[in-house]
Amino acid sequence: MTWFSGLEEICQPDVPLRDHTWYGLGGPARWLCTPRDEDQLAELLRRCGQQDVPWRILGQGANIIVRDEGIEGAVIKLAGPTWEAITFDRPRVHVGGGADFTKVVRQTVDRGLGGLENLAGIPGTVGGIIRMNAGGRYGNVGQCIQEVRVMASDGARQTRTAAQMGFGYRTSKLDGGVVLGATFALQPADPQATLDRFRRIWHEKAESQPAVSARSAGCIFKNPPGQAAGALLDQAGLKRRRCGGAEVSPKHANFIVAHPGATAQNVLDLIALAREAVRKRTGIVLELEVEIW
Ligand SMILES: Cc1cc2nc3c(=O)[nH]c(=O)nc-3n(C[C@H](O)[C@H](O)[C@H](O)COP(=O)(O)OP(=O)(O)OC[C@H]3O[C@@H](n4cnc5c(N)ncnc54)[C@H](O)[C@@H]3O)c2cc1C
Repeated sequence: MTWFSGLEEICQPDVPLRDHTWYGLGGPARWLCTPRDEDQLAELLRRCGQQDVPWRILGQGANIIVRDEGIEGAVIKLAGPTWEAITFDRPRVHVGGGADFTKVVRQTVDRGLGGLENLAGIPGTVGGIIRMNAGGRYGNVGQCIQEVRVMASDGARQTRTAAQMGFGYRTSKLDGGVVLGATFALQPADPQATLDRFRRIWHEKAESQPAVSARSAGCIFKNPPGQAAGALLDQAGLKRRRCGGAEVSPKHANFIVAHPGATAQNVLDLIALAREAVRKRTGIVLELEVEIW
């Protein structure tokens, strides 16, 4: 008997997470679980709780570095039609927690709904984007949220308003829960103007950062109050610095890209080196934006 008896179809042992993260690095998950619906997710969480199996929820792995040795416990991924649904109810849109956020943005822009075009070029699932309150110069996802449906670790379901989500700089208040889905409240807008703005923001990112398709996890460090982490790293001479196959991007010093042959340890070593270089030069200890699993 295993802790997931009867759920073998959705729980695979020893699955390499490099195939499930943007970096394409890291070791296996002891179990990768892909519940098909909310009831299966609740059952998984209940069993993990009862049998002390640690669990984590994985989106597209666009903000994660998985260590080379891999992860004990269960990694749960919300993939498949139930989780990826996008339903329009103008000017709102209801989305599943596993929906591809770039698709959501593009579909709202195509329908002349304004708000999410400000978040052009940010990869991830809706769940990951909400958890991180992803955003940038033109706003954060929390500003477009009407409500979020959350499952607590005991399987209980609740609906939270944007205020209850406690959105802050790359953070939200989930109390260890899982984002099941969300409703975005958008504004009817001129379709061409919205599309133009989307394209302008997309190009701005493309000009100043490595390609979205490059193996990275976006910005490594958070910006310290009143400062830009990228500028601090650049001033410390870190662009093009390498540890093995990991390199500080020559385009944007707050991105570390993985070249062929890189290991997760190479990225972690480069993070430590970069953080120490900035601390020595400025006394500022940079805080991670990426998560290390
Ligand atoms: C090229 C590139 C550019 C980027 N640009 C930006 C940017 O401009 N601004 C920005 O903010 N970020 C940026 N990022 C980072 C990344 O896009 C965001 O952090 C995004 O929110 C990650 O989503 P994900 O689904 O991949 O989450 P993951 O990386 O898989 O997980 C991130 C966190 O969210 C949690 N999580 C995932 N799904 C759920 C869920 N359903 N319920 C509860 N918790 C969940 C995970 O447990 C983890 O704690 C960039 C990344 C890349 C690779």
